[in-house]
Amino acid sequence: MSRWGSSFFQYSTLIWKEMRWNSLILMALTLITTVLDGFGLALFLPLIETMDADQTSRSPVTNWFHLVYSSLGIPFELPYIIAGIVCIYGLKGCMLFCEVAFAGWQKSRLAFSFRTRFVESFSNSNFSFLAKQDSGVLSHIAGGELTDSVNSIFLFVSSASCLLTVFTYIIVASFVNPFFTLVTILLTSMSALILRVLNRKAKLLSASLVKQQSSFQGFVTENLQNAKYLLATGTIQKTLIKLRIIVKSLSSTMFKLSILKALVKGLREPILVTSLLALVGFHSTFSEAPVTSVIFILLLVYRSLTNFMAYQVSWQTFLATSSSIDLVTSKIAELEKNVESNGATRITEVPSTYELLGVSYKYGDFEALKGVNLKIDTGQLVAILGESGSGKSTLVNILTGLFVPTSGQVLVDGVDLRELDKKSYRRHLGYITQESVIFNDSMKNNIMLWTEGQVPESIIKKTALDFGHNREGGMDGPVGDRGGLISGGQRQRIGLARELFRNIDLLILDEATSSLDHKTADVIRKYLRKMKGSKTIVLVTHNVNHALDADSVLILDKGAVVESGNLQLLMANKASTFSQYLNSVKPE
Ligand code: ADP
Ligand code: MG
Repeated sequence: MSRWGSSFFQYSTLIWKEMRWNSLILMALTLITTVLDGFGLALFLPLIETMDADQTSRSPVTNWFHLVYSSLGIPFELPYIIAGIVCIYGLKGCMLFCEVAFAGWQKSRLAFSFRTRFVESFSNSNFSFLAKQDSGVLSHIAGGELTDSVNSIFLFVSSASCLLTVFTYIIVASFVNPFFTLVTILLTSMSALILRVLNRKAKLLSASLVKQQSSFQGFVTENLQNAKYLLATGTIQKTLIKLRIIVKSLSSTMFKLSILKALVKGLREPILVTSLLALVGFHSTFSEAPVTSVIFILLLVYRSLTNFMAYQVSWQTFLATSSSIDLVTSKIAELEKNVESNGATRITEVPSTYELLGVSYKYGDFEALKGVNLKIDTGQLVAILGESGSGKSTLVNILTGLFVPTSGQVLVDGVDLRELDKKSYRRHLGYITQESVIFNDSMKNNIMLWTEGQVPESIIKKTALDFGHNREGGMDGPVGDRGGLISGGQRQRIGLARELFRNIDLLILDEATSSLDHKTADVIRKYLRKMKGSKTIVLVTHNVNHALDADSVLILDKGAVVESGNLQLLMANKASTFSQYLNSVKPE
């Protein structure tokens, strides 16, 4: 199949999948509009012939209309012919309105479907897959590609309607004079050949434009995230070198694409006029048909050619933007394929034990966890200790169900985590990491995650967030992009306040107590001491001093458990790894 044919087939299948019968309704509306236009044009022949008193021979079209009028019992006279034309064009206007409005409705439906599918598949996809995604590409898709892809699909639809219109006019014309029709097809195919070369080039260019645009956006985002370092060290100048290269190639691709567009625009009229003149020449040399039917055919041919040109333009624009359809549909399909698996068992009560049984986890070939066993009872404070890179965060990701163990099991009240409904399990989990999770919204929304109402005063006190009352806007005042308007410690305390508000049962702190200011460290320590016995806490840290409040400890080294057990017993045993760790560091 030719490249045109395979593109046409590929996108028609996509449209059928997305729009089903609505796509056929749209085509039917186009067809009806075109046929009505054909009839309207045809009725001008009897109009001219009736007005021209000298005319003796009547064209076959006029004879056909005469038959239709008399079978309807309407006199075939000037006023009635005029009324007929007015009626047909009125009807055509209505159909055109329906066609455009229906297309608009379908377009907004498709945009809605793409957006929701993207957002839903994104929120339901599994973490191992999501962690490998380029956030620049994903935000580029959300930012513009989703809209562009829908526009592009509708450019395809309008290309298809133009082609349908071309064929309809040709069929109508061939009823009147097949020779003329043949010449029309020859002429249109000739112009198609010229424009085909340009179309191929446009497709290639547009694909590289999309790639360059997302790498530009990705790099700018990265620079913004690292702005503090880049500005303070002057290294921002270095990133400018890379940015300039990207921007330069982006502009040159855009320029080449606009030259292609200009070429197509410039070629349109010369091709059109030459074709029409060729038809006139053909008629005056070979045909003896009455002049009125020649005018009619020329009108049809003219209409057909303008539609063919419109088809070329929208097909070219479609090709230039179609890579956004490919990008969006393939990304949505990829996201949908990587949806996190979920079990059916719902957790309705607070779990009383969490257990890791011989859990191993591999990143590719690298084994980050090796046969880890760990049992956590409700109300216990368990400290997970280990050097950086020993596998602590991997263990936490397994406990939250973000990673599925390569071998071994995670049991919650004796039920394998794989069989649990993850939402019902995670409602019980709180999670605080070293990097605070902050939204560019108010303090209140950061704590209550858009729940209605006011932040409970008790939570504000416990987390020392009273300063929020004195800020501009109080608790409704903004915290800035990634919390830029508040301090690091305040960001971290907002994270704790959020988990207090969620009223969770198992709180995981992954290095959340490392490098904290005194106030925040104090708030967290007080919380941990107060909650001992009522909430379950997993405290992940590389600092052995932070583990002193724990009931039990687990020490990891290169993914394997070196030691685990009751904290007091390990401290009493001077030969234990924990005691040795403790002796090797200064008390805080
Ligand atoms: P910790 O939290 O104890 O510092 P991690 O659990 O983050 O350690 O990492 C354990 C090991 O796994 C490290 O050697 C780290 O380099 C590796 N690792 C972590 N994440 C990935 C990943 N996505 N792909 C490959 N290796 C990884
Ligand atoms: Mg870590």
